[in-house]
Amino acid sequence: MRPEILNPLFCSIGTLKGVGARYLKLLSNLAEGDKIVHLLWHLPYNVVDRTYSCPLRNAQSGKIWTGIVRISAHLEPKSKKQPYRVVCGDATGDMILNFFKYYKDSLKKQLPIGAEKLISGKIQWFNGQIQMSHPDYVADPSFENTIKAVEPIYPLCAGVSNKMMISLARQALSKIPDMPEWLDERFLQEKNWPSFKEALYFLHHPQSTADFSMMSPQRLRLAYDELLANQLTLSIARLHHKKEAGRSIEGNGHLRKKLSDSLGFELTGAQKKVLEDIIKDQKSKYQGLRLVQGDVGCGKTVVAMMAMLNAVEAGFQAAIMAPTEILAKQHMETISAWADIVGIKAGLLTSKIKGKKRAEILEKLKNGEIDILIGTHALFTDEVIFKDLAFIVVDEQHRFGVEQRRKLSLKGNKPDIVVMTATPIPRTIVLTRFGDMDYSKIDELPKGRKPVETAVMPLSKIDSVTEAVMRKIKGGARVYWVCPLIEESEKSDLAAAIKRFEDLQKIFGADVGLVHGKMKESEKDAVMEKFKTGEIKILVATTVIEVGVNVKEATLMVIEQAERFGLAQLHQLRGRIKRGFEAGFCVLLYAQNLSETAYERLKTMKESEDGFFLAEKDLDLRGGGEILGTKQSGFEEFKIADLAFHKNLLLTAHKDAEMILNLDSSLQSQRGQALKNLLYLFEQDEAFLTYKA
Ligand code: ADP
Ligand code: MG
Repeated sequence: MRPEILNPLFCSIGTLKGVGARYLKLLSNLAEGDKIVHLLWHLPYNVVDRTYSCPLRNAQSGKIWTGIVRISAHLEPKSKKQPYRVVCGDATGDMILNFFKYYKDSLKKQLPIGAEKLISGKIQWFNGQIQMSHPDYVADPSFENTIKAVEPIYPLCAGVSNKMMISLARQALSKIPDMPEWLDERFLQEKNWPSFKEALYFLHHPQSTADFSMMSPQRLRLAYDELLANQLTLSIARLHHKKEAGRSIEGNGHLRKKLSDSLGFELTGAQKKVLEDIIKDQKSKYQGLRLVQGDVGCGKTVVAMMAMLNAVEAGFQAAIMAPTEILAKQHMETISAWADIVGIKAGLLTSKIKGKKRAEILEKLKNGEIDILIGTHALFTDEVIFKDLAFIVVDEQHRFGVEQRRKLSLKGNKPDIVVMTATPIPRTIVLTRFGDMDYSKIDELPKGRKPVETAVMPLSKIDSVTEAVMRKIKGGARVYWVCPLIEESEKSDLAAAIKRFEDLQKIFGADVGLVHGKMKESEKDAVMEKFKTGEIKILVATTVIEVGVNVKEATLMVIEQAERFGLAQLHQLRGRIKRGFEAGFCVLLYAQNLSETAYERLKTMKESEDGFFLAEKDLDLRGGGEILGTKQSGFEEFKIADLAFHKNLLLTAHKDAEMILNLDSSLQSQRGQALKNLLYLFEQDEAFLTYKA
């Protein structure tokens, strides 16, 4: 239950003065929430200084001027194109107020001839005449002191004025209760940070643009609060998993030995270490939930297989879930071959497998004939019943949210879960998005991997690129040609990809295929299959080829409009041509008029093949949502904190959260109670309630 003290902040915005039903809707959209607390996070981003005031005659063009004038005349326009003009002035000169949109009657009422009015707006000298178009304020002179000030500017939408936002923000601030401090007093003093309330008050009352610094004590204080709430929640979830009784899985190693004897290679040190981490999770009595990160080609599949074999040795079943049909099939090829070697049975289940065949697989799963099941998310529908599932691998689905992971963990009989991803995820993002999981990294590639050479070129050189493509396919290689389709809704991107396909068809004829995100899954699979078998040699693709597909003959990749991709994404794409026996070659084509920084960014691709390095760079340059490719899909970003500035705060908050929960895992102490307010303020309450440590 939400602490009572917070109730005033969790009333509807509709209870504030001046908010009717229509406004409530607009404001809820704007503030991304309909409670008063959401207005607190809706911060101004600029200021208008209305302190500038001088005799009119001296007023400078372009400045915001505020002062008292007397109205002397109304000049009605002779044609519709002309503005309605009101003449006013002070002792030193006249000013013309222009109104392009107006109601004559209300202007006459608002600015009656002979009256004194307080006016504020932008001065413009025009033909030796002082003018002001649509003043920001027309008020009674008695308001002089309130208006002649520095005023915050809020993000707005049609129908909500800045004046209204200012009034609402003030009302919201006045509802903040006096809450006990949740940060450690000594820490607070050391940092010289203000209280939560003071900090918010400051951010809503900026005096100059300097006050928007991401490093001001007030901003830091609130960013820390937000990050601490995030880290506490994830740590609570993690502790919860650790306490959740699972099963101890401990095989005798005979299957693993058989497999490693016939692999033809030895696991790298990093693979061994990560496998040990997983095996330790499996052995423990508690439910394991681990993120395994490893660059493209580092050999995650064999690690997954060994861990699954451990479960099978112990008499249980295991499952591996791939994001697409084609990846599931690819895993099936690899894994069933390994299964044959060690003498166990693997099965494939996707939505495409229907009728008798499906019934048969489901039956074998239920009676335990199938030891390892491979499939897409269709694996975990209700009709799929395992005899005894003890271990799940989720491959290449880092977009899986905390909630989805939690649901998965309820499947079967408390299975251990490993989530594998080739996306190089920077540490900060691991902490904020995956902090509920344990974490291992395969930070080493098998020996003898050929590097990929990368070139950066303008699109105008496309002819020499197609010549290179020609040479390559004559030599028996296959080629990826990637066009961006960043957002599903971008029709022009799709059109551009199709156009490129048609242009290449004119040169290469039936050797070219096209695959894009708007195609049906089955159509995509068919084209990919043709590319795998070599029926087509050039594959024009939008980013759908991003994850996991293996085509060993593909050694050249052309990426168009490379500047629109994130570095981490480019790195992953490039990984597709790193699987073969030959060194790969990657051409990044950019559009004309590329900025210097954008060009520099592409050049880092030339200089580094280290996914983690590139991801960190990307994070600094573009922010976290870009790396996971989730900016559009509604993955939360922080409200106050910005990891480009507050990375260190996050690391501290992480340690702080661990320490707090070590001492007081259910937040019962005095500070714990105060911290509960923090969790509820940042609406981490749901997680808290579900997991309640
Ligand atoms: P990813 O981590 O990208 O999923 P895969 O598991 O598909 O990579 O492995 C890529 C290739 O490397 C496979 O052909 C696999 O058999 C091979 N491989 C994996 N581990 C090793 C190793 N230790 N030594 C040599 N080759 C390996
Ligand atoms: Mg893989």
